[in-house]
Amino acid sequence: MKTLDELLRDAEVAHGHLCAGQVLGVRLAMLGLELLGINDPHGKDRKRLITFVEIDRCATDAVAVVTGCRLGKRALKFRDWGKVAATFVDLASGRAVRVSAKERSKALAQQMHPEINSKNQQQMLAYREMPTDDLFQVQWVKVSLLPEELPGYKGERIVCAECGEGINFQREVRRNGRTLCRACAGESYYEHLP
Ligand SMILES: [Zn+2]
Ligand SMILES: [Zn+2]
Repeated sequence: MKTLDELLRDAEVAHGHLCAGQVLGVRLAMLGLELLGINDPHGKDRKRLITFVEIDRCATDAVAVVTGCRLGKRALKFRDWGKVAATFVDLASGRAVRVSAKERSKALAQQMHPEINSKNQQQMLAYREMPTDDLFQVQWVKVSLLPEELPGYKGERIVCAECGEGINFQREVRRNGRTLCRACAGESYYEHLP
């Protein structure tokens, strides 16, 4: 496993800047991997891990860098819950651990470094130094993954009866005897312009 400093450099390159979220995300992912005994996520362990992230902010980029889990490899799953937390699933053992940032870590950073005015600088330094227990809460959990959630799943491709677009990974919906994509079934995030 790379060191915190090495991983922070990698995270900075991937994310575009170093920030408190990168420090938090790198440490969060390092802890998750350590708890699962995964120490070579980019090498021999690279097919062992699925990571769920719960926020689309800075820390998530760092989690992706450390774990090597990417959306395009189906190894990174996004649940939009607005929480600085991630769950690491070890496909080899079936074990899973959820690590979440403690709410009081911000206040603790303020106590540790009141001399630093910038909140980002203050938290960047404090999050490096803070003991793991002050920073994170750990829960061992069970994650049930269906075959179609896993990397490498090869399934049938279905065509939506309404829009004609192809749908992978069993994401189609049955409505009144028709097979529809989720947009045509009413879950769309966009509206067609007249
Ligand atoms: Zn950032
Ligand atoms: Zn459709």
